[in-house]
Amino acid sequence: MKVQRIALSGFRNYEEEAVQFGPDVNVICGPNAQGKTNLLEAVYLLTGAHSFRTRFDRELIGFGCGWGSVLADVESAGRSQTIKLLFRPGQRRQVTVNGAKKTSSSLAGLMTAVLFSPDDLYLIKEGAAARRRLMDNAICQLRPGYASLLADYNKLYDNKTRILKDWREKPSLLSALDEFSDGLARCSARMIRYRASFVERLAAAASPIHRDFSGGKEQLQLSYDTVSTVTDTKAPAEEIYRQILAHQQAHRQAELDAGACLTGVHKDDILITVGGVSARSFASQGQARTAALSIKLAEREIFKAETGEYPVLLLDDVLSELDAVRQEFVLNRIGGGQTLITCCEDENISRRTGGKVFTVREGRIK
Ligand code: ATP
Ligand code: MG
Repeated sequence: MKVQRIALSGFRNYEEEAVQFGPDVNVICGPNAQGKTNLLEAVYLLTGAHSFRTRFDRELIGFGCGWGSVLADVESAGRSQTIKLLFRPGQRRQVTVNGAKKTSSSLAGLMTAVLFSPDDLYLIKEGAAARRRLMDNAICQLRPGYASLLADYNKLYDNKTRILKDWREKPSLLSALDEFSDGLARCSARMIRYRASFVERLAAAASPIHRDFSGGKEQLQLSYDTVSTVTDTKAPAEEIYRQILAHQQAHRQAELDAGACLTGVHKDDILITVGGVSARSFASQGQARTAALSIKLAEREIFKAETGEYPVLLLDDVLSELDAVRQEFVLNRIGGGQTLITCCEDENISRRTGGKVFTVREGRIK
């Protein structure tokens, strides 16, 4: 999977710019606030997923522009495809592939990318939201139905939360509560199957990478943690649905009292252990970084196994955050696919990777 060329119009701080990437390592350098991350964001959007920075497409449109677009030639499964994304205020994003209109989710599998940013280094120690984001961003790219399932879940969740917050002032709202709970349980059941299978694969891929990384000393284990009444995450969706309903019923009163949604997959997590103990509680900073790196590199391997090609790897400012040993480990593992690396200094990284170097200044790329 490779992005050969990308053209941006009215996208973030790019008025009109185009760039031709090399097939291997591309180093994108420049001072702060020039447009480096914006460029990676444009590439990431070609996967059909939400931006990694915002849920709102309107924020992608350049200030003072009526619309914004990203046009790219992508090499996927040996074919060259042209993907165009058009962002207009107040409207859904328009997606075309080779001129034919498509949905965002149909880009799943066509173009895949794995992003690695300094935030990911805190994946282990942060709250569960970061680990859910990891699952969701990956599955959205691999499974065409997942993004809309997630959007449905979020909508139902917002509606249910509103009822739970406001029912005391407006008791009539309660008549719709069970309907939203039921919808959430149905979505949850399907999401659990996707997430469980993803985490199983992530665990299998991350463990040997981490073992390698720690010189054979440490064992990294991941397991999926969801609603406690679900006994088998691979069971048919109907069975999982019934188990979630049971959990919801047991917590109905508690949800009304708390004024919040207490049960559902919005609380899911990935439990991570290093050497048999909880990494979140006990891992040192260095161990947590190593585990986070292993998980990110594992994500890249899963995409490769799934689509037959390495995803485009986007390393946003991450190398400067790593010590020399970890930098070397990452750089030795990124072969075989296209990589875009952003950094504030070019000399060192470009020399070590032999990559093509671009300089970004005020939304212009040289
Ligand atoms: P750093 O090295 O600090 O990470 P960067 O080169 O990655 O910097 P970007 O995050 O790409 O910087 O942002 C560049 C600039 O784009 C910022 O100054 C930001 O204000 C601007 N920007 C963000 N969104 C828009 C938008 N919709 N329209 C115009 N400019 C925008
Ligand atoms: Mg940046």
